[in-house]
Amino acid sequence: MLSIVIPVYNEEESLEPLYQEICEVAAAKQYDLEVIFIDDGSQDASWERIRGLAAADRRVRGIRFRRNFGKAAALGAGFADARGELVLTLDADLQDDPHEIPRFLGMMETGVDVVSGWKKVRHDPWHKVLPSRVFNAMVSRLTGVRLHDHNCGMKCYRREVFEEVQLYGEMHRFVPVLAAARGYRCAEIVVNHRPRKFGRSKYGLTRLVKGFLDLLTVKFLTGFGQRPQHFLGTLGLLAFVIGAGGLTLLAAEWAISRLPGMEPIHLQMRPAVIYSVALLLLGGQLLSIGILGELFIAYHDPQFRAYSIAERTRPRAAEPPAAKNNP
Ligand code: UDP
Ligand code: MG
Repeated sequence: MLSIVIPVYNEEESLEPLYQEICEVAAAKQYDLEVIFIDDGSQDASWERIRGLAAADRRVRGIRFRRNFGKAAALGAGFADARGELVLTLDADLQDDPHEIPRFLGMMETGVDVVSGWKKVRHDPWHKVLPSRVFNAMVSRLTGVRLHDHNCGMKCYRREVFEEVQLYGEMHRFVPVLAAARGYRCAEIVVNHRPRKFGRSKYGLTRLVKGFLDLLTVKFLTGFGQRPQHFLGTLGLLAFVIGAGGLTLLAAEWAISRLPGMEPIHLQMRPAVIYSVALLLLGGQLLSIGILGELFIAYHDPQFRAYSIAERTRPRAAEPPAAKNNP
């Protein structure tokens, strides 16, 4: 079964045509599918449209948020609700073309776990396309997950992926990266992209700044998420050692200058004092933040698994039934 998850924020005009297109594809290919619309606190008639669709077709379900929680939250709610073995996400604004669904499924059949769309020919204004190019290049370089279009709304996943990847904030852009970090295989296909017909884009230039900060987070999570002290502590030790070394040298210099016949030096005239003290403090800070990070991980979530299992030879044997009526 295929679950189609669609986040919706003020897209009233697009929903019915989108549903029609999905139905066309499903009918032509005879897919067993469900469609889940998540209304992310729309102020327009989106929810009425979704209710109408759900009432007319049992394959359609709707979820309405109390307010706008963001696309990642909407996708998260959809993933939690989806029952299919495969889950495909689609933007609600008709920019993603449902006729590409069969190609996504074809790619999944080759055995990959995540297929991401690539809007090679994009129909968006240049001030969105250009920063997006730079962003994609940066993400690919820093994370090693080489996709041309990390932010594409059209992606397909095996359901296991969501049992391990947490979506929060605006992390929806990084699901392939987070999945790849746990050993899932990602692939990319070029998709048809269409201009927005109705409504407005929900994202502006601030997306860039947020995207960059999220990239730092993801880099840290995938690199040192389980051992923050290795990162912070290395920097901290380095700063600490340089600072302590600087102060030691200065102290030695001062002591030597006090020997008879030497010109006494005045340490308040030496900028190196301030640099050394600052480095010493910074080093101490970084080391203690690293310790806090480690404590947090040690006692945080007992459910969290620091590994990801691909297969087993056979399921673990069930517990033997407890003996009854023990004397
Ligand atoms: N969206 C959402 N919540 C938000 C912002 C956007 O669910 O807070 C949905 C929106 O309805 C659309 C998709 O996310 O289905 C992508 O948004 P948009 O088309 O505005 O992004 P763009 O294509 O301009 O990058
Ligand atoms: Mg769009």
